[in-house]
Amino acid sequence: MVARIIPVEPFDLVIFGGTGDLARRKIFPGLYRRLADGQMPAEARLIGAARAEMDDAAFRASIAVALEEFLPAGGLDPAKVAQFLDMISFVQIDATGDAGWSVLKKKMRRDVVHAFYFSVAPSLFEPIAKRLKERGIAGSAARIVVEKPFGHDLDSARALNRNLACYFDEAQIYRIDHYLGKETVQNLMAVRFGNMLFEPLWNSQYIDHIQITVAETVGVGGRGEYYDRVGAMRDMVQNHLLQLLCLIAMEPPARYDPDSVRDEKLKVIRALDSVEPDDIVRGQYAGGPDGPSYLEDVGDAKSRTECFLAMRLGVSNWRWAGTPFYLRTGKRLKARTSEIAIVFKDAPHSIFDVPRGRHSNILSIRLQPNEGMQLGVTIKEPGPGGMRLIDVPLDMSFAEALGERAGEIPDAYERLIMDVIRGNQTLFMRGDEVEAAWAWTDPVIAGWEARGHIPSPYDQGSSGPDDALMLLHRDGRRWREIRP
Ligand code: NAD
Repeated sequence: MVARIIPVEPFDLVIFGGTGDLARRKIFPGLYRRLADGQMPAEARLIGAARAEMDDAAFRASIAVALEEFLPAGGLDPAKVAQFLDMISFVQIDATGDAGWSVLKKKMRRDVVHAFYFSVAPSLFEPIAKRLKERGIAGSAARIVVEKPFGHDLDSARALNRNLACYFDEAQIYRIDHYLGKETVQNLMAVRFGNMLFEPLWNSQYIDHIQITVAETVGVGGRGEYYDRVGAMRDMVQNHLLQLLCLIAMEPPARYDPDSVRDEKLKVIRALDSVEPDDIVRGQYAGGPDGPSYLEDVGDAKSRTECFLAMRLGVSNWRWAGTPFYLRTGKRLKARTSEIAIVFKDAPHSIFDVPRGRHSNILSIRLQPNEGMQLGVTIKEPGPGGMRLIDVPLDMSFAEALGERAGEIPDAYERLIMDVIRGNQTLFMRGDEVEAAWAWTDPVIAGWEARGHIPSPYDQGSSGPDDALMLLHRDGRRWREIRP
């Protein structure tokens, strides 16, 4: 059975920062895939806008190179590429000045959806929003897409929200968190709320604890200077990991619509406990055969910014009181993997001769690589010799279950951009959610800064500092292995 793809309405999408890294790596390749899949209509127009001096032909040529570079080899159909490039044009624009805006205005067609993707530094969000509105380029139905980071702390996030609200309604603002666009993340909601099996058990009575791991093998590389001002808490936890936590912990929304879902996520963020110093482990990778240390990468031997963070976190409400959430993210770890593990409690009484604390029922939700889900169950080991138990996974690997169609699963960015065109904000963060997340994050950071905390070194290719293992050991638990 092949799912029918319904094309979206014709649209004009302006990509500010069209020559930048994100546009070349994710946005244009993603849009090409949507055209090739038949979801992007032939009447769509893509307008790159950036400071560079370039004409349409040169911009198209640069996008053709980006498609070659960032889409899998053999994934390009020459006729589709030609059609895609024909849809693209370029405007040289100065986000903070006057140049280019009247050209852009003339390009925008009537009677199609207008979307503006702000793939630029956050300092340019307000100047662009202001010019779009004041020059009559964006009307009341236009949508703007805003990239992370959405603020550096609560004050800056509030200021950004306030500034954008001068020109656009909340219903027009799409704050992107690409983790929410991943297939498995939406499947998490489908599994929870589309089945009878899980939801009755989805609480502290049956769930022992939850682990969320986002592990990277790369270091900070060329982004060292930027990263060192941010760190893992602001770069990963405040947004991506908290968003995942919200989807796991939220109450069933009354409907699958943007505000019903986002209202429930907001309640979770507001129920997060503050984190005690003992419940946080911060780390920096040490130098080794695989590369320089974090401190060398950022060029500051005294840096106290963490590129590894693990924490134990509570959600204080009826559903979750007593069930800890363990979050972990870091760079230069053993493998590149993102996983949510829902670890169920042992059966209350075992009639078999097996040790307690086995936690054999684990629902593991893999975001990358190989998106899919696995449910661990205990069965009898086949064969004679009495009742010996083994744990086996019930595997819901999308690649296997969907066969060839698994290759058609859209990347997070493609899906989210199509949602913008459809006007569906469900998978985008609302302003109050972002502020609530910062309101929780700020005091945690202020706490370790006040204590002058120094991150622990850890070996490259490891699972992080040893203290992170202790975070679970002292609770009689252990982390899931970081596996590719
Ligand atoms: P980049 O530095 O590669 O590109 C910046 C773009 O902005 C360029 O096209 C440049 O021409 C344009 N620009 C800069 N000043 C301008 C001005 N005054 N007027 C008009 N255009 C101007 O940046 P990037 O890596 O593509 O990131 C863009 C945004 O996306 C940032 O907010 C970043 O935090 C966010 N982001 C990027 C990634 C990524 O993987 N690159 C991931 C997540 C979020």
